[in-house]
Amino acid sequence: MTNKYDAIVVGARCAGSPTAMLLARQGYKVLLVDRATFPSDTISTHLIHPPGVSLLERWGLLDRLTATGCPPIETYAFDMGPFVLTGSPGTEDAPAAYGPRRTVLDKLLVDAASELGADVREGFTVEEVLREGDRVSGIRGHGKGGPSLTEHARVVVGADGLHSLVSRAVAAEQYNEKPQLEASYYTYWSGLPMNGRFEAYDRGDRAWAAWPTNDGLTLVIVGWPFAQFEANRTNVEGNYLAAFERAPEFQERIRAATREERFVGASVPNFFRKPYGPGWALVGDAGYNKDFITAQGIADAFRDAELCAGALHEALSGARSFDDAMQAYQSTRDGHVLAMYEFTCQFAAFTPPSPEMQQFFAAVHGNQDAMDGFARVFAGVTSPAEYFSSEHVGSIIGMAG
Ligand SMILES: Cc1cc2nc3c(=O)[nH]c(=O)nc-3n(C[C@H](O)[C@H](O)[C@H](O)COP(=O)(O)OP(=O)(O)OC[C@H]3O[C@@H](n4cnc5c(N)ncnc54)[C@H](O)[C@@H]3O)c2cc1C
Repeated sequence: MTNKYDAIVVGARCAGSPTAMLLARQGYKVLLVDRATFPSDTISTHLIHPPGVSLLERWGLLDRLTATGCPPIETYAFDMGPFVLTGSPGTEDAPAAYGPRRTVLDKLLVDAASELGADVREGFTVEEVLREGDRVSGIRGHGKGGPSLTEHARVVVGADGLHSLVSRAVAAEQYNEKPQLEASYYTYWSGLPMNGRFEAYDRGDRAWAAWPTNDGLTLVIVGWPFAQFEANRTNVEGNYLAAFERAPEFQERIRAATREERFVGASVPNFFRKPYGPGWALVGDAGYNKDFITAQGIADAFRDAELCAGALHEALSGARSFDDAMQAYQSTRDGHVLAMYEFTCQFAAFTPPSPEMQQFFAAVHGNQDAMDGFARVFAGVTSPAEYFSSEHVGSIIGMAG
């Protein structure tokens, strides 16, 4: 069997397009397919924290993003009820976050992959993963209304999201699983200016967040425990709006705004998947999915794309065995995200803070370095393991006297 391609990437959004782009940039022959066509929307609230923005900058794509008029977000404000923790999530190389619509972001990514030489097939659905012996060797699929086609490659990369067909076809092992923890609904508002701020509100069994996106709109997402999903699903709008009664100032602002789009709802399970095996790899949500409450998915997908493309380059060029290179990809990915995964799941479970944590947050309030630090934890810049270590917690409480 001759391979027309070095790699076939299934899925062309946050994980797939950068993986294809980075491989094509190394000179590999890459086919990138997606059943969607671009621009198109997908279920996501699309906040990109500074580490993700920093990768866009490194790939030469940040200027294209800012040219769409998407405003920078320089301040994160966490309203805990009795006080607000206001800090800067930025780093030296990426001072701001952005919240671009997925219609904007994903188009920009798929175009970049194409410009760097990947063959892009939009509107192409993969139906089957092909094998030769125990190795994955290609895909079978079809364009819209077209005949069934097969393509072969040295590796097939599943960047096909949460319900990944590639991961199912190879029976990728799942670990660290946790069930759905929250249910959330979001929509877009005009007339709700955010002035460069991301705002999050924590009110018992309700949490919500608001931030600016393209076209002068503000996204507002409201979540509640998954246990309340069934009871609340018949009156999404009523339950969404009722949450704001718990923060009258915000309620006043949103009452003066206009809802521009329908409500979109989601709830997701939490898991890791082994991201490689003979002839296949997984990136993005296909390999690691977590609740969206801390908005890590896009930056994680970007980082995975760099790690996975780097490992595939080592394997395809013969610098390292496929198994060694991909094992390093898996352990680097897991090492990077594990503490954030636990933090995210705890948050999504609406676990009330312990008395010690309440004391800690009260001490953080008013300590600008500590508030910036918390914003950077939420942004995925600083590890929660470091920030919530007993030494750090003790020192902040000590400073507050
Ligand atoms: C409600 C919600 C809010 C979120 N908010 C945020 C946020 O604010 N910030 C953040 O960073 N993350 C957020 N996330 C997570 C983020 O959206 C994902 O982590 C990110 O989209 C993962 O990108 P991906 O490329 O791995 O997968 P996806 O974006 O899901 O893309 C997968 C692609 O694969 C294609 N595909 C699937 N199967 C096939 C097939 N058989 N053949 C061809 N193509 C196929 C699909 O068409 C799709 O285009 C949110 C998620 C949800 C559900």
